[in-house]
Amino acid sequence: MASAPTPADIRVRFCPSPTGNPHVGLVRTALFNWAFARHHQGTLVFRIEDTDAARDSEESYGQLLDSLRWLGLDWDEGPEVGGPYAPYRQSLRMDIYADVARRLKEAGHAYDCYCTNEELEERRAEARAAGRPSGYDGKCRTLTEEQVAAYRAEGRSPIVRFRMPDRTITFTDLVRGELTFTPENVPDYGIVRANGAPLYTLVNPVDDALMGITHVLRGEDLLSSTPRQIALYDALIELGLAERVPAFGHLPYVMGEGNKKLSKRDPESSLNLYRERGFLPEGLLNYLSLLGWSYSADQDVFGLDEMVAKFDIADVNANPARFDLKKAEAINADHIRRMEPKAFTEACLPWLRAPHAPWAPEAFDEAAWHAIAPQAQTRLTVLSDITANVDFLFLDEPVHDEASWAKAMKDGSADLLRTAREKLAAADWSTPEALKVAVLAAGEQHGLKLGKAQAPVRVAVTGRTVGLPLFESLQVLGRDRALARIDAALARLAG
Ligand code: GLU
Ligand code: ZN
Repeated sequence: MASAPTPADIRVRFCPSPTGNPHVGLVRTALFNWAFARHHQGTLVFRIEDTDAARDSEESYGQLLDSLRWLGLDWDEGPEVGGPYAPYRQSLRMDIYADVARRLKEAGHAYDCYCTNEELEERRAEARAAGRPSGYDGKCRTLTEEQVAAYRAEGRSPIVRFRMPDRTITFTDLVRGELTFTPENVPDYGIVRANGAPLYTLVNPVDDALMGITHVLRGEDLLSSTPRQIALYDALIELGLAERVPAFGHLPYVMGEGNKKLSKRDPESSLNLYRERGFLPEGLLNYLSLLGWSYSADQDVFGLDEMVAKFDIADVNANPARFDLKKAEAINADHIRRMEPKAFTEACLPWLRAPHAPWAPEAFDEAAWHAIAPQAQTRLTVLSDITANVDFLFLDEPVHDEASWAKAMKDGSADLLRTAREKLAAADWSTPEALKVAVLAAGEQHGLKLGKAQAPVRVAVTGRTVGLPLFESLQVLGRDRALARIDAALARLAG
């Protein structure tokens, strides 16, 4: 066994297949590899596993790059960056895999298998019925030349199968400790399709070997492929194509609603959803880092640099992690509060413009936005909420939210509003406190506490029962517009 690599030698990889939209499980894997590389001053290789032409797409490839850029997870080798092992897209490395497959066959580590799917299925069923392991039975390991000729004469094209050694494979998973796989549970497996296309089972470990990967950190769903890959690695070492078997660490499953494994098809898995809702990259990554890891017993909000300083794969927990959207939002809210005020006002701008914002571009008043922004910064959980929080400032009329209207406008609300309007008209609008005194006084006159008194005022002015602090909102909206809206509400109540 090679000795443990020194820190600077650490090479990890993030190697997604470009199928579909990026999902949070993928991001968690990228993040843990990135943090591990950065913590150890190692190298993060970004490799695109696009050998499945039927499922891979250029659009998904573009999204992967764009997502990592947005998240701020940078890579040291890979697309757009290059590196000593380029190309980093497997679709551009097909000749390498063909060559390795040929060498594996020549050395006896792989062989042609002519079994048809129907034959395999039939033998699997027989094995199951007899209580034997139902994996591939090794039939084509020892075909004679005549048998091969006969299959060929029938027009069969073989797949290439890797010959698993007849030994128990044990390795120490960096997360789960020592794991053992017995040969009957790891049958010979396909590495090249009948049409010559190499499979994940081949290209993934071959590239890990050729690219000098020292640590494979990936999801627990890939655990069953690890003994196969270790055996393939041993063969590559024998052929002089690999130096050593990498260390493996399998990240725990992420459970979603109802304690079911979070699937990439679940809506809450989609990275784009978090982007569209206005999660901050740092907030989302902070939350995702907690899926299997923790920063400390009493702190779960931290920056990426703090994560990098502390992160080690040995601290990852093997137990399934639970995805908790509410907690993700709460952590994101903390990150919003931690922003520089200027960064916050700028980060909100996309949600204050078309197509997110329902008002005309010229209705956006930057001074009003800057005046109200501090109120929003301490209250938002996601940036996209800003649109509804400040729309009363930029729309000609407040939104018509019938549920809010019904809730706030009770018998007597017209009288209260009339009094509030009088008091507000007479108030000094230079501070929110004076406006509060006015509404408080109006409430007192009608035997209402502040909360009850301000509800109809809020709905009249903003259209909604909930929102940013009312008196700051009134002040930023301005006396004339606020009073006109109360008049309009009074007219509606009278009508
Ligand atoms: N392309 C594989 C996947 O996305 C990579 C698995 C691995 O990390 O080995 O599932
Ligand atoms: Zn066969």
